[in-house]
Amino acid sequence: MVKSDEKVYPPPDDVVSSAHIQGKEYSELYRQSIENPDVFWSLQANKLLTWNKKWRSDTAICAYNFDTSLGPINIRWFEGSELNLCYNAVDRHVEAGYGDRVAFYWEGNDVEQDGKMTYQELQNLVCQISNYLKSVGIKKGDDVTIYMPMIPELPAAMLACARIGAVHSVVFAGFSAESLASRIQDSKPRLVVTATGSKRGPKEIPLKPIVDEALDICSKQGHMVEKCLVYDHHQAVSKESVNFHSGRDVWWQDAVLTQSTSCPVERMDAEAPLFKLYTSGSTGKPKAVLHTTAGYAVGAAATFKYVFDYKPGDIYWCTADCGWITGHSYVTYGPLFSCASQVLFEGVPTWPDAGRCWQIVDKLKVTIFYTAPTAIRALNAKGDSYVTKYSRSSLRLLGSVGEPINPEAWRWYYEVVGNSRCPIMDTWWQTETGAHMITPLVGSTPLKPGSATLPFFGVEPCICDEKGNEIHGEGEGLLMIKRPWPSIMRTVAGNHDRFEKTYFGMFKGMYFTGDGCRRDSDGYYWIIGRVDDVINVSGHRIGTAEVESALVGHPACAEAAVVPVEHAIKGQAIYAFVTLMEGYSHPPQDPTLKEALIGAVRKAIGAIATPDFIHWAPGLPKTRSGKIMRRILRKIAGKEEESLGDISTLADPSVVETLIALRENS
Ligand code: ATP
Ligand code: MG
Repeated sequence: MVKSDEKVYPPPDDVVSSAHIQGKEYSELYRQSIENPDVFWSLQANKLLTWNKKWRSDTAICAYNFDTSLGPINIRWFEGSELNLCYNAVDRHVEAGYGDRVAFYWEGNDVEQDGKMTYQELQNLVCQISNYLKSVGIKKGDDVTIYMPMIPELPAAMLACARIGAVHSVVFAGFSAESLASRIQDSKPRLVVTATGSKRGPKEIPLKPIVDEALDICSKQGHMVEKCLVYDHHQAVSKESVNFHSGRDVWWQDAVLTQSTSCPVERMDAEAPLFKLYTSGSTGKPKAVLHTTAGYAVGAAATFKYVFDYKPGDIYWCTADCGWITGHSYVTYGPLFSCASQVLFEGVPTWPDAGRCWQIVDKLKVTIFYTAPTAIRALNAKGDSYVTKYSRSSLRLLGSVGEPINPEAWRWYYEVVGNSRCPIMDTWWQTETGAHMITPLVGSTPLKPGSATLPFFGVEPCICDEKGNEIHGEGEGLLMIKRPWPSIMRTVAGNHDRFEKTYFGMFKGMYFTGDGCRRDSDGYYWIIGRVDDVINVSGHRIGTAEVESALVGHPACAEAAVVPVEHAIKGQAIYAFVTLMEGYSHPPQDPTLKEALIGAVRKAIGAIATPDFIHWAPGLPKTRSGKIMRRILRKIAGKEEESLGDISTLADPSVVETLIALRENS
């Protein structure tokens, strides 16, 4: 927990004077967005996007029911309007004369692999993909599953779906055949798009064989995918090395690149489904989140422009894969709505070494860099020299998303990566929210390391106690949202009941985020971890983020994850998994390190948070998007590894075995 004497970082004067939203403008606009959403969102929608037909002006800009006792949960924004998101992301920029602007700077896994795609080239490609999809009968409302590496063809395939009104479902191309199969079974597409393979770090990853296996599993379960469109990504995996099922499989290079480069856009209703996307599965079986057209577009466009303070000339880089919501809103849609030039990176931040990101930043003069705490901690553990070797002088703004960022990691990111020049936008949001929800704005929000700070326009957060009473002012509890924002999910695809129970079943009339949160005396929000992960020691509720931050504050600790274990007297005790910095063994040689780490927690939080156990962990179980899976650690700590639950979204299942083996040494 940050003490009152903790340093606050006000926005630098030169940043304020050039920012889209400056100083007090934030609070004025925020108030307008809450008091008069019709005026606020009409203005933004007109400014940010091009519409085929405007929304009705005789009804509220958002019609909704958030209360299950009054009927089904139902949310509709910009009713009566029509627009096409592919047109907004691509065509209108070409029409306005920006066809030569680079849309994507592609960086391959290996340093010498790179490429570029302009907006004109993107438009041509998107039209060709759309024409191919239409030629095999894909039409408005049909599902398409995409399982591809981070190459420009991936966002292009998403946009091609949006162009003709098909609903894309991107599955991260690191998932196993079974995970892919269960997602295909869920949305039942007639067509799957993939590539021969990919290369990430030292590993070649053949994707096509995984798709073959997944499609086999699906056909045994009764769903036959008719077409599999395969991009020959020869830089990674050769065409010759994969099987070809004639009749079903089609080579992208033959089928797509021979199509016409013009294709009309479909006019889409405001609430037409745009995509399905599965959550990362940190807390259990992933949910198929459904987003629709107009509200999602306004949310992605507004947050991209204002949070990253995007201006023409910026080179933007978000390291997230398109398989996650961050890659949807802040690779495919948000930046392209703004006609931005961005980096698309197929590799991993530690290949060929931990300096790769900064090498790319210098090479392409990246100005805005957005990544996850897991990457920041991993790079910090490798030492500063990989960073300081590069100039990074082009950077002006940094971003973080995915987990609470510990103040220690925040400071390293700020001081070492950003040379104490670049404000950090710690963006709290979810797959379900579609866009940033609690986040600083660079020209108006003083930063506090570890806090996502203040709500974005139109977002009305509220903190409740366990009975659902709202806590006003300072306090801690469950983070709820009181009213819909434009990019809120509309349902769990095929399971509206699960949608209502998960998000609206906690307290009447409010959206439940699943996260615990504290609001300080300045009204700043501090995410303290998932509600399911809160630890109750002798009646004191302790957030995982707090204890983990205290551990990471010790110079030897690279990363930490804490979970509760049963305790006869305290009810629950704190059990900490600790990954040490590069150069330490697990367990460490130094016998005093354990006491020192425990001491660091006692000093930062107090005796009540003293960990009873320190478990040395060379690695932690993480989702494929890099989030720590505490529910698996709870099982390991409690010696209940026979009931680990769904581990299909785990990035590296072998860490589980390692941790179990190391338990006795800790
Ligand atoms: P599942 O819902 O299937 O368990 P998930 O919650 O990990 O998966 P996402 O939608 O990718 O799936 O993650 C959203 C969650 O990530 C948030 O609820 C929050 O716990 C965490 N999160 C994201 N950004 C931040 C942030 N800036 N600070 C703190 N926590 C964050
Ligand atoms: Mg979640």
